Formats: sequence, C-alpha cells, structure tokens
Amino acid sequence: MRTVGVLLFIIGGIWALFAFNMNTSVSIESQYVGGINIPAHAVHNIGLMDEKRSHLIISALLIVVGVILFVFGKVTDKEMIDRGEMKKCPHCAEVVKTDAKICRYCGKELPQPVPKFKNKQEYEKWKLAKMK
Ligand SMILES: [Zn+2]
Repeated sequence: MRTVGVLLFIIGGIWALFAFNMNTSVSIESQYVGGINIPAHAVHNIGLMDEKRSHLIISALLIVVGVILFVFGKVTDKEMIDRGEMKKCPHCAEVVKTDAKICRYCGKELPQPVPKFKNKQEYEKWKLAKMK
C-alpha cells in the first residue's frame, strides 16, 4: 500500500508540473472593429484555463491520496522481513521479531542467525561458547 502511495505521489507531481506548464492563452489577429484597430495580441482562453484547473485538481488529488496511503498504509510483513526487522518462524510460518528466541505463536525455539567469522578459530571459539 505504501508503494502505491509513493507511486501516486510521483504521478501526481509529474501531472502537476505538466498542468502548471499548460499554455492557456490564444493569439488573436489584428482586427478592425467599429473604426478602431485592435492589434494582434494574446488572450487567456476560459476553456483552456478550465482544462488547466481540472488537471491541477486531479494532480492535487493524486498527491493527497498518495501521501495518505504512504502515511497510513500498513507496512506489510514482506517489507519488515526485507528490512531485517522481522523473520518467519520455520515451525508455524508466522512473522516474529528478528531478535526473538522463542516464537510467540507456537512457542517453539527459533534458530539463531550464525554470525560471520573471519577464520575457523573464531568459529570454534563461538561454538564452544555456545555449548556452555
Ligand atoms: Zn512459530
């Protein structure tokens, strides 16, 4: 859910940039109205301005929904495992804290991660300390 939020936020941001850069003016050729010469100029077109506003509203909605999903979106178990905060119990497949020694769901002992050793001596030392 949080990933969707980030995605919506990015899409909304790009959409907003596009909307902000929309040109709403149209050029008018010089006219001769009632004896008065009106030179060529550019005027804002209400239809284009309305379109720009619609795009801005959509992009703002995407950004707001994206932020809400990111802030209130539940962090999934997979994300917690990927971050190393949680691990899956090999006995009951429930997700428990990485530091847990006993599973809170099934009560069985959890295998502890084996630290990395530089050499065999260090490993033997660790093995002996574990047996005590
Ligand atoms: Zn378990």
